[in-house]
Order: sequence, then C-alpha cells, then structure tokens
Amino acid sequence: MASKTLLLLPGDGIGTEIMVEVEKQIGVLNDVAGAGFETETALVGGTAYDAEGAPISDATMAKAQAADAVLFGAVGGPKWNGVPYEKRPEAGLLRLRKEMELFANLRPAICYPALADASSLKREVIEGLDILILRELTGGVYFGEPKEIVDLGNGQKRAVDTQVYETYEIERIARAAFDLAKTRRGKVTSMEKRNVMKSGLFWNEVVTRVHREEYPEMTLEHELADAGGMKLVKAPKQFDVIVTDNLFGDMLSDIAAMLTGSLGMLPSASLGAVDAKTGKRKALYEPVHGSAPDIAGTGKANPLAMIASLAMGLRYSFEMIREADALEAAIAETLEAGIRTGDVMAPGCTEVGTTGMGDAVAERFRAKLAG
Ligand code: NAD
Repeated sequence: MASKTLLLLPGDGIGTEIMVEVEKQIGVLNDVAGAGFETETALVGGTAYDAEGAPISDATMAKAQAADAVLFGAVGGPKWNGVPYEKRPEAGLLRLRKEMELFANLRPAICYPALADASSLKREVIEGLDILILRELTGGVYFGEPKEIVDLGNGQKRAVDTQVYETYEIERIARAAFDLAKTRRGKVTSMEKRNVMKSGLFWNEVVTRVHREEYPEMTLEHELADAGGMKLVKAPKQFDVIVTDNLFGDMLSDIAAMLTGSLGMLPSASLGAVDAKTGKRKALYEPVHGSAPDIAGTGKANPLAMIASLAMGLRYSFEMIREADALEAAIAETLEAGIRTGDVMAPGCTEVGTTGMGDAVAERFRAKLAG
C-alpha cells in the first residue's frame, strides 16, 4: 500500500502526552492493517518558541503543507504569557489555519452511550446523538474590514466589526456540508439570521442554489441561528449536518459539544480546498481542548479526543472508513468496559491514566482490525 504521511505536532502541556497515545494507534494500523503510515514530529506553540524562536518555524510550516494530514495536540500555557503577541503559542495554530486555507471546521457531537449520564440533558434526549457542526472558519465577522475602535472626539467611541461573505466562500462551505452529509444521513441544516442580516439573506440564497443545482438528492432545511440554538438543546437528534458561519458556528459548536460531556472527549477537523492536481484536501485534526496546564505532567489527561481526531483523519483524509469505524468502536467499548480517566470517572468504573487509556483502546483496536 502506498505510504501516507502524517505530521505530528504535539505542542505544549498535555499535547505531548496525548500524542504518544495516538502514535500507539498508528502503530496498530501499520502492524495489523499494513496501513503504511509514515510520521514525522515537529514543534509548535510555546515549545517551538523556546527552541526555534517562533511558535511555528517556516520549515515546520512547509512540512505541514506537504503532509497528507496534520495531527495537532494543543498549545499554550502560563509559561508563555509574557511573549510578544505575534509570537504567542496560539499564533502557531492560526498560521497553520491561514496558510493551509482551512476554511471548514468540523465538530462532531457524538454521545457515547456509556457517558450519556454525564450530560446535562436527559439520557433519552442525548443517547445515540451523532451530529456534525460545520463552521466556516476563515471569513465572516472575525476577519471582515473595517474592524476598529474609533474615537469620535466627543467623549464617545465607536467599535466596528464587519460581517462579510463572498459567493465563493459560501459555495465551498455549502459543498463541504453536502459532501459530508452524503457519507451520513443525507440532511443539511443551514443556520443564519436572514431576518436581520443582509449576509444571512445572501448565505441562505447561495446555500439554496448550491443545493438545487448540485445536490438535489440531499435534504436541506434552514433555521434562524437563534431558533436553531434552542432546538439544538431541546431535541438535538433532529439534526445531521449543521452548516453555519464563523460567528454562529463558534457558539453553536461549543453548545453542541457540551451536550455530550467532557472536553477530553471532543475531536475536531479543519479542512481546506481539494487540490486540483493531487485530488487531496489539506487537513488538520485536533482535540477541542487546550494544553490543560493544571494537569500537564501528571499522567491524568484523557487522550480520547486526540485519538478520536485520528479517527476523523482516517475517515476524511484517507477514506479508511473501516479503520475509522473500528477505532471509534474501540473507544466506545473501552468506555463501556468502565475504563475511565479522571475527567469522565463514574461510580463503579476503573480509573486509569493517559497511558492506561491509550493501551486499553489500542488493545481493542488491534482485536477489531485483526478480526
Ligand atoms: P483547557 O482546554 O486546556 O482546559 C480546561 C479544563 O479542562 C482544565 O481543567 C483541564 O484540566 C481540563 N481538560 C482539558 N483537556 C483535558 C483532557 N484531555 N483530559 C482531562 N482534562 C482536560 O483550557 P484552558 O485551561 O482555558 O487553557 C489552557 C491553555 O490552553 C491556554 O494557554 C489556552 O490558550 C490554550 N488553549 C489552546 C487550544 C488549542 O491549542 N487549540 C484550545 C484552547 C485553549
């Protein structure tokens, strides 16, 4: 099988600890499934700043551009609070997103049955939940110009952020949503505020056209983002893929994520355009959580969000659906067996550390791939 290249960027804090557990699963893929993954590891974040003078070096950036996919741990920590703004650890991640043009952010909200009681919602509302929030990541109000605070000279100031979307930006995120829905239950819900925002009206128009012209076989529904947020909390299982802009997506994806419990469980993916020559999409996979300086070095970090991020990579960058299903099932079975890290610990379960959790998943993953 042709080799597949993965750039591993563990980063800071627990990033390095959880990446070790991902390397174990890659080892299983190569051993048992002959997957042919080749990995290379490089620095990012505060550790890169300390060693190389920048939160990501040009050399590492070039490796990220060349790899089939990037696996990213987490960056940041109090140690780097005083570094110059443009060299802060998070700037490494922002540079990756910008230069790889990662415009689509995927956040699944999946409720593992074994953890249904950890949710703030009732078990019957949440059990079996499997939805995907697709957030536009490189446009909208976070980037639009003008973006300023102006002194009006009369003791008042005016702050301005600008929500801007062009046709191509909405078309490409809409296509990504429909393509993802094809691999799932075939339903896309687009959320905006067309009742009060011109950009919402335009978003709605473009998504509707892309659906009509290119994906008529899919189901498309529209929701106002505020009403959609309410439905997400009241009856989340009605959704499949939700596609929305940068600002609403930021909030809705956090809400959806928290439906399912701990931060240590949440993977994500950021995807770019399909390269016309190679047919491959630029992609970066990372847990939603940060570097957790409060538990870094204690061996307590939950590696499941990082491992589930690898599963997303198998699915979306390598079309290794069987392997992705097997890895996700190995995670679910480990939880079902009552093996838990401290953050998802429950009465009657067995508490393990980062290594114990990684080993438990690897053992089940190996058995599934071999079976
Ligand atoms: P955090 O996600 O690092 O931690 C929040 C809380 O959740 C902490 O109590 C932590 O112990 C716990 N937690 C997080 N991940 C866990 C895991 N895998 N297992 C067990 N418990 C886990 O957020 P924070 O404390 O607000 O930020 C810490 C640092 O991380 C800051 O420097 C922040 O800027 C950075 N950060 C980075 C990213 C990223 O790299 N993408 C994202 C968010 C925050």
